[in-house]
Amino acid sequence: MATRVTVIGAGVVGLTSAWWLLQAGFRVRLLERAAEPGEGASYANGGQLSYHYVSPLADAGVPLKALRWLMQRDGPLRFHPQADPQQWRWLLQFLRHCNSTDNARSSAILLELAQLSRQSLASLEPQLSLHSIGWRQPGKLLLYRDHKQFAAAVAADANRFDAPVPATAAISASAACAILPEPDARRQYLSPDQALALEPALATLHPSLAGAIFDPGEAVADCHAFCLALLGQIRAHPLFDGMLQTQALGLRKAAGQALTLETTTGTLEADHFVLAAGIHSRALAASAGLALPLYPLKGYSLSAPVGPDHRAPSISVTDVERKVLYARIGDQLRVAAMVDLAGMDSRINPSRLASLRRLVHAAMPDAADYDNAIPWAGLRPATPSGLPIIGATGHPGLWLNLGHGALGFTLACGSAHLLADLMLGRPASPALATLAWR
Ligand SMILES: Cc1cc2nc3c(=O)[nH]c(=O)nc-3n(C[C@H](O)[C@H](O)[C@H](O)COP(=O)(O)OP(=O)(O)OC[C@H]3O[C@@H](n4cnc5c(N)ncnc54)[C@H](O)[C@@H]3O)c2cc1C
Repeated sequence: MATRVTVIGAGVVGLTSAWWLLQAGFRVRLLERAAEPGEGASYANGGQLSYHYVSPLADAGVPLKALRWLMQRDGPLRFHPQADPQQWRWLLQFLRHCNSTDNARSSAILLELAQLSRQSLASLEPQLSLHSIGWRQPGKLLLYRDHKQFAAAVAADANRFDAPVPATAAISASAACAILPEPDARRQYLSPDQALALEPALATLHPSLAGAIFDPGEAVADCHAFCLALLGQIRAHPLFDGMLQTQALGLRKAAGQALTLETTTGTLEADHFVLAAGIHSRALAASAGLALPLYPLKGYSLSAPVGPDHRAPSISVTDVERKVLYARIGDQLRVAAMVDLAGMDSRINPSRLASLRRLVHAAMPDAADYDNAIPWAGLRPATPSGLPIIGATGHPGLWLNLGHGALGFTLACGSAHLLADLMLGRPASPALATLAWR
């Protein structure tokens, strides 16, 4: 009889966990409180599969930059101080990680997990058509408006990856179209003119650019479509025990007995529970005595229709200074931005939405039909270091796969693969082993 696992949460992390556990031979049940899967942070995120540019927010110089961002009308950051010890504790821990040593260490770990994710997603291709989820590999352009920042980014790349490729290297927007090419596909360091030649949708931004980095290996896809497609595969798997539409209330452990889960429809038993409920994992873990260092970082997106007369970018674009990202997904342009520390509130703040609209009109005015764009806000489940927490806990039978912050879509497949390996008793690499809860 196969070991029974209940995965709590059917966002992109819970669904990928369920899939890789089924592949590993576990009998899996999914538990989701919403009517449909993928309606939390996974719903209308930026859609970037960012396999190389994984640097966490915490870095040297970020506290000073944050002060500047807070003063800007349309700045990327908002802080709403609350009488919430978790908010202040998280901020203090975040500040402690704002140094180049921690950033380099976390980036190296995330890079390894991202490469595992790339390979794991590719392994899904026979069952799940990547094209059906809007998957494309157009590469990514990182735009820099400041010469010093651009020079620093190029130098950091030289340390992190291979030696830079001269800017004269011939490239074209369609150069990287094979599915999941070599992970070491070379980055290109571009002048503003070269960036514009590569991506004509940068016409308005061009005068304000100092330079750009083009990474041909980065991809985009629709995270919500991926969740629905993967659920279809999960439902068809012979070891799938079904999806319960119910809310988990808390974990319980009576002396000498196995862990159980209280839900709105009764008590559940399983050999293992996997907590993958995004930001809501914090409250559920607290019921088992675990104080997870998670805080919600609210972000916004617009999904705007692209018509034949629009000049939408084909390449995925990140405006590094403004922290706005653009991804063409099917017949829509997805624009995502903002980091608001405002507690467990996923409502759309009209003034932040107005900021996002001003930013996109200023940067790419003709790219899409912004008047008919659908706005959305979601809560990134963020740890202070930017590293997710994946692995066992001190409670036999309780596993964690959470805290993926701004990279949950990118890292979901690798995280699920790692979790399944750990649950089978296979050791993680030294870097990935550090993601365990301690
Ligand atoms: C604006 C924005 C842009 C982003 N852009 C990108 C990007 O471009 N690339 C990228 O890689 N990542 C991006 N992210 C991050 C990514 O979206 C998240 O990291 C990821 O979606 C987190 O997935 P999750 O499954 O952990 O959480 P969620 O998607 O929130 O899923 C958690 C699930 O658990 C369920 N749940 C919660 N509590 C309970 C309970 N008590 N009982 C039962 N079910 C419960 C919820 O209903 C939900 O379905 C972005 C995020 C935002 C907000």
